[in-house]
Amino acid sequence: MEPRSAAAVGKDFPYTARTTCYIEVHQDGSVTHGGGRAAYDRALASQSRLFAVWPGEWSSDLFMIDDLDEYAKAHGIKHDQERTGLTEHVHDVQWEKESYRNDNPRSPYVTIRVSLSCGCSIRSLGAFAAQMKEQRGWDVAKTGGWGSSSGPEGKTYSLRVLRRSLAN
Ligand SMILES: [Zn+2]
Repeated sequence: MEPRSAAAVGKDFPYTARTTCYIEVHQDGSVTHGGGRAAYDRALASQSRLFAVWPGEWSSDLFMIDDLDEYAKAHGIKHDQERTGLTEHVHDVQWEKESYRNDNPRSPYVTIRVSLSCGCSIRSLGAFAAQMKEQRGWDVAKTGGWGSSSGPEGKTYSLRVLRRSLAN
């Protein structure tokens, strides 16, 4: 079976779909399963080649991961402005505690409303959480509810942040 090109599929390639399985062919010819950071590093160093099986309804296609940059962006190994909506800069963040909710001071988490006046939008909570950890020391909850609403002043996001990390 001749592998197809993942690069040719572009951004629609299901890099992070649960059904996509990665196969790594090492220089010595051994084959291992699984992608991730280490596989990316080896493939980048030409120590191995990465393939992916994209299971279809009737048959599965074998793809060569020939666009490692796209692979890394999809997996969050490399920052991707388009996927995350976030520029790699210090965001201009306005935030306030969401007062209408019953804030239970004994809860370790507090819900805040965040807006970004730097032009960014939050498409990936994980990427935003990582940036806020770095820029403000916030521990943003990556599980559980988060949401956004659009108003006259732009988009507002509702996030849960570890209370004691907010004091920073
Ligand atoms: Zn920004």
